[in-house]
Amino acid sequence: SKETYPFKDYIRVIPDFPQPGIRFKDITTLLKNGKAYYAAIEEMKEAVQHLNVDVVAGPEARGFVVGAPLALALGVGFTPIRKSGKLPGEIVTAGYELEYGKDQLAMHKDAIEPGQRVLIADDLLATGGTIETSINLVKQLGGEVVGAAFLIELAYLNGRDKLGEIPLFSLMTYE
Ligand code: 5GP
Repeated sequence: SKETYPFKDYIRVIPDFPQPGIRFKDITTLLKNGKAYYAAIEEMKEAVQHLNVDVVAGPEARGFVVGAPLALALGVGFTPIRKSGKLPGEIVTAGYELEYGKDQLAMHKDAIEPGQRVLIADDLLATGGTIETSINLVKQLGGEVVGAAFLIELAYLNGRDKLGEIPLFSLMTYE
């Protein structure tokens, strides 16, 4: 059987950030280690390869550092999902709620061709508000969300429920 990389050893948990009671999972300690970062992207690639993805979409900002290398590893393109006011072209928007806060996300209208198979990638699944809004945006553009991939899933927040039948892969889970 395949040996698993000790990914969690590279995640730093910071208590009370960005507010009291939140135990923030800091991924910068994984990203700065070339072997751990590479192994993480490789394992994600292997998990989603069978989905025949046409394009990877990632919400800013940490979705970029997961989604872009994953897209390259899969040999497909990457498209950013951004906070509104950041994208220069014509956009579609959708509202979302975070584990702590509220905001709006946007995508370029031509980011996805109708019928394209889209994988959404982010660093972490918490309440699922970000992924739910990202799915909404891809659907507005006529894309098919064929999967979602995360470095980390906070299972106790049940964000997974927001995905319905969409296949979900997470490299690490915190119960
Ligand atoms: P959700 O929308 O699922 O509640 O929250 C997930 C989003 O918030 C992700 O885009 C993620 O970057 C950010 N986030 C929430 N909690 C954490 C955390 O503990 N660590 C990191 N790195 N990101 C988090």
